[in-house]
Amino acid sequence: MGAPLLQGFRSVRGHEAAIGLLRRAIAHQRLASAYLFAGPLGVGKDRVAHALAQAMNCTARTADDDACGECSNCRRIASGQFVDLLVVKREFRDSVFARDREGPDADEKKLRQEIVVEQIDVIMQRVAFRPHEGGTRWIVIREADRLHKNAANKLLKTLEEPPPETHFVLLSHRPSALLPTIRSRCQTVNFGLLDEPDVRAVLGGLELTPEHVAELLPLAEGSVGRALIYQDPKHLAARKKLLEEILATLRVNGVAVGGFVELATRYKDPPEKNDQFGRGELDETLALLYRHLRNEALGSAGKAPRQSLVNAARAEIVRETMELLDGATSFNVGMQLQNMLVRLREVRP
Ligand SMILES: [Zn+2]
Repeated sequence: MGAPLLQGFRSVRGHEAAIGLLRRAIAHQRLASAYLFAGPLGVGKDRVAHALAQAMNCTARTADDDACGECSNCRRIASGQFVDLLVVKREFRDSVFARDREGPDADEKKLRQEIVVEQIDVIMQRVAFRPHEGGTRWIVIREADRLHKNAANKLLKTLEEPPPETHFVLLSHRPSALLPTIRSRCQTVNFGLLDEPDVRAVLGGLELTPEHVAELLPLAEGSVGRALIYQDPKHLAARKKLLEEILATLRVNGVAVGGFVELATRYKDPPEKNDQFGRGELDETLALLYRHLRNEALGSAGKAPRQSLVNAARAEIVRETMELLDGATSFNVGMQLQNMLVRLREVRP
C-alpha cells in the first residue's frame, strides 16, 4: 500500500488553516521550537510535519513558502532518509519484529505501550550536535501522549532549553493526556477531520482497487487512517464481533442485566487473553457502534419515529463516551464503558 511520495504542503489534502499558519510562520521566520499537532488519528498530521521539515530544508523553496518536492533534501525527507529528521514512535517489544516495523498492519499487541526514556536519550545525544545537513533538524514524536513519565520529563528539559536549529513536532490525538508542562511548551496547531472528497482523494491515491475504496470510504468518518484500520477483513470481523456483543446487551429480552458488567471487566490493555479487548479495539468498536446507531436513527426516521429517537439518543451517549475516553487513563476506561452500557440501556422506546 504505497502512498505517493510527499511533495510539500500542496500534496496534503485538507487542513488549510493549520498549513496556512505554518506557511505564515515560515514566511516571517517565526517558527516555534516545539509544536503540538493535535487532532484525530489518521488525518495527516504526520504528513504535514514532514512537509514542514521539507519546506524548512528545501534548497529551492517556492515563492509561496512551500517545498519544491524535487530537490535532494525534499526527496530524502519524503523517503525517510534524511538524517536531520528523526521520528520517535512506540517500538516493538521484541526486536524480531523490527523488520516489519513500517508495515501498515503493525499489530498493536506487539508494540510497547509507551515511548521509553531510552528513546529520548538517543535523541538527546543526536541533538547535541549541529544538524548534519546544515539546515534545520526536526524531531517528530508520534503518539506523544504515549510518552512514559520519565521520557516526558526528560523531553521537557530539552523543550525548556531547545538546542539550536532544532524543532520538535509532537503529534497527538489525545492532547489532554500529555503533561500540562509539555503542552505549555508547545505551540498547539489543531487538526480536524477530513471531508469526504479529501478522504476519497487520499484513498484513491493508494494502491487500492476502486471497489476497495468504495468499501472503506463509509468507514473513514473523516480519517483516512481509520478507514485503513479496516483494510484487513479479519480485523473488521473482530470489531464487528465485539460490536455485536455490545448490541446484544442492549436487547431487553434474553440478556442478563449483568451482561454489560461482564463485558466491561474484559477490558485489558494490552489484552492478555483471547476474550479480552484492548484500547485500540475498544476505540474502533465504539466508532463502529456510533456509526451503526446514527445510521439506524437516520434510516428509521420516517418509518419508526420512536425507534429513531432511541437510536439517536444512544448514538449521542456513545459519542460522549468517546470524548470522555479521549483523555482517560487505562484505570477508568472499564468504568466508562460500564457507565455507557448502563446509560444506553436506560434509553427505552
Ligand atoms: Zn526541495
